[in-house]
Amino acid sequence: MRLLLVEDEKRMAQALCEILRQEKYDVDHYADGLDGLYAVETGVYDLVILDVMLPRKNGFEIAQEARKKGIKTPILMLTAKSELDDKVTGLDCGADDYLTKPFMTMELLARLRALGRRNINTPDGTLTFGDITLNKDTSMLICGENSVRLSEKELRILEYLIANQGQILTREQLAVKIWGYDSDTEYNNVEVYMSFARKKLNFVKANTEIKAVRGIGYELRYDHV
Ligand code: CA
Repeated sequence: MRLLLVEDEKRMAQALCEILRQEKYDVDHYADGLDGLYAVETGVYDLVILDVMLPRKNGFEIAQEARKKGIKTPILMLTAKSELDDKVTGLDCGADDYLTKPFMTMELLARLRALGRRNINTPDGTLTFGDITLNKDTSMLICGENSVRLSEKELRILEYLIANQGQILTREQLAVKIWGYDSDTEYNNVEVYMSFARKKLNFVKANTEIKAVRGIGYELRYDHV
């Protein structure tokens, strides 16, 4: 899961990044509110953790502006104890949950798991589209009687396409989603992994297809025949 952390306290941010990476989240961190807002608005994250007091734009404003633009990514707001009304304001502005500082790591991780499930998953860790089912816990792609194990990137690609069904995803969006901003991945790699994912779909004899939309990107389609 790609997670965005917007937190300006250096030590806090470092500690959180470390913990979250141990928990296998792919974490991007920004210390500035405006940079954080731009990052949220890309829509590539599965979860967002927002501090309230931030330079240039506070957490409430970030959540509010992102929601206004139709970004549905679950947001967990971190609030200081002194900011008593934060809880109410946080939920009003479009945050999904809040956590008061200081908090226990276990508590944070539990909230994130709950929010992550709320995002696109069914309770049993599976996603479905057309005639295919993805089991994220076992990394299996299932179609009727057939199943095949997916690599981590294949799983992410299909997960992302299913979560955004009905939309065309650009190669850039996919590259950022799968490899992150910092990587030097060339867009060609997206095509390579798309062909891997397609082979897996063929292997399980799925009627669900990854369609290339010339010059734009990719879309998941299902032929009801
Ligand atoms: Ca702060």
